[in-house]
Amino acid sequence: MFRSFRHRAQADQSAERDVHASARDRMVQRHLIDRGIDDPAVLAAMRDVPRHLFVSPEHINSAYDDQALGIWAGQTISQPYIVALMTQALALTSTSRILEVGTGSGYQSAILAHITPHVFTIEIIKELTDRARLAWNAYGCADRITATTGDGHAGWAEHAPYDAIIVTCSPVAVPPRLFEQLTADGRLCIPVGRRLESQHLLVYTKQPNGSMHKRQIIPVRFVPMTGGDD
Ligand code: SAH
Repeated sequence: MFRSFRHRAQADQSAERDVHASARDRMVQRHLIDRGIDDPAVLAAMRDVPRHLFVSPEHINSAYDDQALGIWAGQTISQPYIVALMTQALALTSTSRILEVGTGSGYQSAILAHITPHVFTIEIIKELTDRARLAWNAYGCADRITATTGDGHAGWAEHAPYDAIIVTCSPVAVPPRLFEQLTADGRLCIPVGRRLESQHLLVYTKQPNGSMHKRQIIPVRFVPMTGGDD
């Protein structure tokens, strides 16, 4: 009796895994590959990381749609295409050290951790850091991520320099400490804008003379970066 119940429970669980895995495969094809994402490490991460573990329960059925969703504390998890686009722009390798500002649900951090074990992430709302840790434990990537609660305007000097920095909330201007904490050819991907309607995703690359080369990618809508002097 117990045995067959347990077998049924296991079968249910793996059927559920398959449903999510095929939803992820569809998401990767339609929303990423068909829209030009082609970095194999990014595609592998997006195919593997269970986004449904990072959204609040009422959104589980929409977890693999290409849309931003509400999480907790009035914050949002970014849409899969933007997560992939930003990750690809950072040109990561398996040895890159990366700082994320705005842990939120912890989904973007898990994508980064699929590529490199040197992920550092900072979040201003403690409840979100705590919840993200639970999700990383459930997925099994917690040992690749070092997280703290604090204001990312100051970066995280203790672990600098970083080969890449990704900011997932929007300041009105780039906090200068982030430039300082990049390595000699480091990349910074950040949504900048005075208002929600006028934000742009920017990618900065540090040049040999220390100046920053700026590329504007696409218009975006991120939650505002709080704290600092804003
Ligand atoms: N990367 C996240 C997206 C979260 S939304 C994900 O994958 O889910 C942006 C997050 O930035 C929010 O959780 C918000 O609380 C946080 N944030 C806003 N201002 C911040 C600051 N000054 N320092 C650190 N985090 C900040």
